[in-house]
Amino acid sequence: MPVYVVLLGPPGAGKGTQAGIVAKATGLAHISSGDLFREHIKNQTDLGRQVDAILKRGDLVPDDVTIAMIRERLKQPDCAAGAVLDGFPRTPAQAQALNGMLAEFGGKVDVVPFIQVQQDELISRLSGRWVCRAQGHVYHETFNPPKTADVCDVDGSELYQRDDDKRETVEKRIRVYFEQTAPLIDHYRGEGRLTEIDGAQAIAKVTEDLLKALPEQAQ
Ligand code: ADP
Ligand code: ADP
Repeated sequence: MPVYVVLLGPPGAGKGTQAGIVAKATGLAHISSGDLFREHIKNQTDLGRQVDAILKRGDLVPDDVTIAMIRERLKQPDCAAGAVLDGFPRTPAQAQALNGMLAEFGGKVDVVPFIQVQQDELISRLSGRWVCRAQGHVYHETFNPPKTADVCDVDGSELYQRDDDKRETVEKRIRVYFEQTAPLIDHYRGEGRLTEIDGAQAIAKVTEDLLKALPEQAQ
């Protein structure tokens, strides 16, 4: 049976960083809704044009559009063993839709690691975040710098700072998270699927805790 892991946590908690490492370690696919939207914007697709201004403002893309994009992604062959979902679901309606989609693939949400980090730390993480143009690999100018300034260690592409990592937009995104996404914490806790992870630890220690939280068949 495929294994599905939903990473929950505020913007800057380390979801993308950890999803990349955990996916590589387990053979699960890494699905980042934010990366998928940014790819559409870069390629100037219809969807990209539709969501560009929404991402710049730090608002959420409407549920129907987001759900349709994730449904397509989950059907890809690299998701046969399951996936680590990073940034989806972000609303109760998305969580409900996800249950339906995973049931179609013979799976369910197996575990929901909730990566917790204090708000002032989130702001320093996001304002120092650098991302690679080619594949979205994530760095931090102080906490996780690349070996060579401005160049991705993995694929050699240029690093850039996201438009929505400006301070005002970061504050807005954290507000949006508390209003629209934080209710999912209690929802998954009530279902017994939530595992709390201390995201303030070093990257390698967070990974260790996350791997321990995965179902046995994924470890
Ligand atoms: P999210 O996907 O949850 O928004 P990211 O994985 O993009 O978070 O991480 C946000 C920023 O914080 C990046 O610059 C990343 O390098 C840095 N970061 C991630 N995990 C840690 C950590 N455990 N300690 C310090 N900085 C971290
Ligand atoms: P971060 O990890 O820093 O919060 P993401 O890369 O996950 O940022 O998301 C960037 C933006 O993409 C969000 O601010 C939002 O506009 C859009 N987005 C990503 N995932 C979703 C989602 N599940 N529902 C609605 N909008 C989303």
